[in-house]
Amino acid sequence: MPMNSNDIKTVQSLLSTSKSIVIVPHKNPDGDAMGSTLALCKYLNAQGHTAVVVAPNEYPHFLKWLPGNDDVIIYNATTKIATQKIESADLIFTLDFNDFSRTGDMEQVLASASADFIMIDHHQQPSNYAKVTYSDTSMSSTCEMVYHFLDALQATDHIDADMAACLYTGIMTDTGSFRFPSTTAITHEVISKLIAKGADNSHIHRNIYDTNSHTKLQLLGVALKNLRILPEFKTAYITLTQKELDDHNFQKGDTEGFVNYGLSLKGIIFAVIFIENKADNIIKMSLRSKGDFSVNEFARTHYHGGGHTNAAGGKSDLSLKETVDQFISILPRYKDKL
Ligand code: 5GP
Ligand code: MN
Repeated sequence: MPMNSNDIKTVQSLLSTSKSIVIVPHKNPDGDAMGSTLALCKYLNAQGHTAVVVAPNEYPHFLKWLPGNDDVIIYNATTKIATQKIESADLIFTLDFNDFSRTGDMEQVLASASADFIMIDHHQQPSNYAKVTYSDTSMSSTCEMVYHFLDALQATDHIDADMAACLYTGIMTDTGSFRFPSTTAITHEVISKLIAKGADNSHIHRNIYDTNSHTKLQLLGVALKNLRILPEFKTAYITLTQKELDDHNFQKGDTEGFVNYGLSLKGIIFAVIFIENKADNIIKMSLRSKGDFSVNEFARTHYHGGGHTNAAGGKSDLSLKETVDQFISILPRYKDKL
């Protein structure tokens, strides 16, 4: 749902005097999380506020070209400075997530902050911590919502080429390059306006998708070799062990998008990737679906996770083999939905 007029008034009043503002994306930020926070940050600084993006942890190299990247504070790397910023902030925007727990180690610092909160997010079941909660699960991306947010403030004239590039990036990555069902005519209208404002679409696609390392492509080869199909459940899954990652000089973001290869198989409507993470002692999972099968519900029920109907994440504390065995044992319960 769009922001109501009361919320718009509250935001206008919160921004009517110069504020110290922190903008927070979720842990393991993706293109939408970084694009939305950096675009909003540039806008707020141009309006005379002192705004900074504080990300819970590092993000992939293919997002490092985003305008404003150099000023991002990484909580895990410089915890003291980040904590100070949060504690002294008047206002905190949380973007592209629905609960403090999605910020990992930052959860407690945010929960005890004295600032007012504004949430802008498109995930299901938002928590209730913000003075203004702009939540719309029908939206393609938080970046599209930031555009609508600025529109509600009658501020789209302030979108420059840098901000346009940030917003374009998040809409592009969260819609799988404009192919997921969340992509609407309005999404394309927003994209059109962003290109008109200077977003170099072709350049952005190349920056995000054409900067692979040779080892990353070889890791993709391993993932595809490991792909298994369960035709009776229209399901495909991929596994990657820590050793397979180590043998291919794994860098953050290298496995982004791998899960979609499962979903590209004819007749498959549910795809999962299980990635072993020895440092955190977990199996990290990405889940994707086509149609009505809700991976949000599946991840919430079985894997301490969540997300959207067709894209979600979660984790398991079992070993990789045990996790996969358990996953296979759960599927019969969903036979009528798959
Ligand atoms: P991805 O699989 O690309 O990491 O994430 C897919 C979607 O699920 C994203 O919208 C992401 O924010 C969400 N997501 C990923 N991991 C988790 C998780 O552990 N918990 C919750 N609640 N959402 C997640
Ligand atoms: Mn998003």
